[in-house]
Amino acid sequence: MKHATFTDGSSPIPLNTLFCVGQNYAEHAKEMGSTVADTPVIFFKPVNAVVTDGAPVIIPAITTSLHHEVELTVLIGTGGRDIPRSSALSHVAGYGVGLDMTMRDVQSAAKKAGMPWATAKGFHTSAPLSPFVPAARVPDPQALEISLAVNGALRQRTSTATMNFSVAVLIEYLSSVFSLESGDVIYTGTPEGVAAVTAGDELAAELHGLVSITHRIVAR
Ligand code: MG
Repeated sequence: MKHATFTDGSSPIPLNTLFCVGQNYAEHAKEMGSTVADTPVIFFKPVNAVVTDGAPVIIPAITTSLHHEVELTVLIGTGGRDIPRSSALSHVAGYGVGLDMTMRDVQSAAKKAGMPWATAKGFHTSAPLSPFVPAARVPDPQALEISLAVNGALRQRTSTATMNFSVAVLIEYLSSVFSLESGDVIYTGTPEGVAAVTAGDELAAELHGLVSITHRIVAR
C-alpha cells in the first residue's frame, strides 16, 4: 500500500483515489488547442502509479512523446459528500507538488477517437508525488507558486492564483459527484509550458519555499 507522507514527520496516511484535473489554467488549455471548460475535466490515475522523490520515471514503450505537467497536489484529510466551497479547505490535510506525466501522442490519439485518457495518463510511474506540507502551514492555496525545471532549465512556473477552478471549488465539485475520502489526492492541473522529456533528463518540481522533488527519466 502506498502512503502520503508529511514534511513535518506527521504519521503517513494510506493513499486512496488520485483525482486529476484537466485544463485548469487558461494558458495551458490554449497551448493544447482548447479552452477551459465550464465544469472541471476529471480523470484518474491508479494509486500504484505514484512514485516518491528520487524514484525514476520510466518511459513506456508505446510512446515517443512523454510530457511533463507540474501541478499543485492536495491531500484530503477528512472526506465527505456535498462539501460546500466555504468549508472545503477544512477537509485538506496538506499541499504538495506532483507531476502528471502524460504520453501526449497517446492522449492526442485518444482525444481524436473520443476514447478515454487512462492509458495516456495512468501508466506505471506516471504520478510523481511529493510529501505534503501540513495544511496549517498554508493559509491560502491560491497564493502558492509551482515550478518545474528540466536539467536545470526552467520550463513551467506559475502562481496558483491563475487557476480556473480553485482548490475549494474543486473539492465542492468533486464531492458533489464522487465520495471524497481521507487519503484522496487531487492533482489540480498544469500551467503552460508542457514539453517532451527524454531518457536521462532530470526533472525538479517545486512548491516554492515548501517542498520539492527530483525524478530522472529512464528508458524502459
Ligand atoms: Mg495534468
